[in-house]
Amino acid sequence: MHIRPDLKGKSVYFFPTLDRYFEGILMFDAKEKKAYVYSVKNDRKYETFFKWMIGLKNQKLFKGKKSSLTTIFLESNPTSPSIASILRESDYPLYWKSSMLMSLEDIFMLIQENILLGGKFAEITAQKINGGLELYFFKKEGKSLEKKILFIAKGILLEYEVYILNHVLQGTHLPFPVKAGKRTLNDIKDLIQYVFSLNICYGQSTTGLEDVTYVRGTQLVNNAQNSSKEHTPFAFLEKQGQPDEAYRHVDCMFIVKSKNKNICENCEKLKKTMQQIHRRILTGKNSIKVIHASKNLLIEKVKEQRKSY
Ligand SMILES: [Zn+2]
Ligand SMILES: [Zn+2]
Repeated sequence: MHIRPDLKGKSVYFFPTLDRYFEGILMFDAKEKKAYVYSVKNDRKYETFFKWMIGLKNQKLFKGKKSSLTTIFLESNPTSPSIASILRESDYPLYWKSSMLMSLEDIFMLIQENILLGGKFAEITAQKINGGLELYFFKKEGKSLEKKILFIAKGILLEYEVYILNHVLQGTHLPFPVKAGKRTLNDIKDLIQYVFSLNICYGQSTTGLEDVTYVRGTQLVNNAQNSSKEHTPFAFLEKQGQPDEAYRHVDCMFIVKSKNKNICENCEKLKKTMQQIHRRILTGKNSIKVIHASKNLLIEKVKEQRKSY
């Protein structure tokens, strides 16, 4: 916790309900070079507002969940400016120093308060898990989960992983190393901003080429056979039967560098293949391979044969 110099020694008031409050005093321990809240009620000091509230709650001094930023006030009057009103204004970087080391609780609280990035990313939700914290990024329209950041605490250090459509993003794509390290408010902001702005590959749409999915089914396979005489797949069908049905290349890069595209270079190559298959279907030149590869077609053939018996 960092205290603005002009607020040091000042009382703050935590209101668990509108008619009750607990007094705390913002202090600075020069020896430990640490700021804290001194809690008058139980004569203890806490490193964060959040810990203060948890401390009071654990002593059964109040019940229920409270958000520290909207229930802690600078005067003993719950209609006075709350801590949140200070944080949301331009001077909040002074209060939450950008170099401040972040804990899972800090990230959780800031996401909950939606102040981490000035309220810009309201669609991000946070959930605590055992030993960690997950941030979920949903697709703008609809509720499908697109991206996830998983933070894991190792003492005061944080390690993290980024998932794109349930696929772990390699560290080389990320703004700082994923391994455990000291992470500041600035780091966390940069990371969230970065993940938020990542463009995702949705694969090669089958719109207009639906006949390809009928003949080829859920996978596109190579012409050549592998050592066990199989045609290895190079693309798989996703969202079958849905408006966003698409083939995804096995080497899909999941993220797209170009801002105005939603398909990666590898998935983009599938279009040519699909168009070739489409043309072959139109001209009736179905190769032997297609018959090998297409379960749908095989099933149809078997059904036809059964009928003729
Ligand atoms: Zn792709
Ligand atoms: Zn074959």
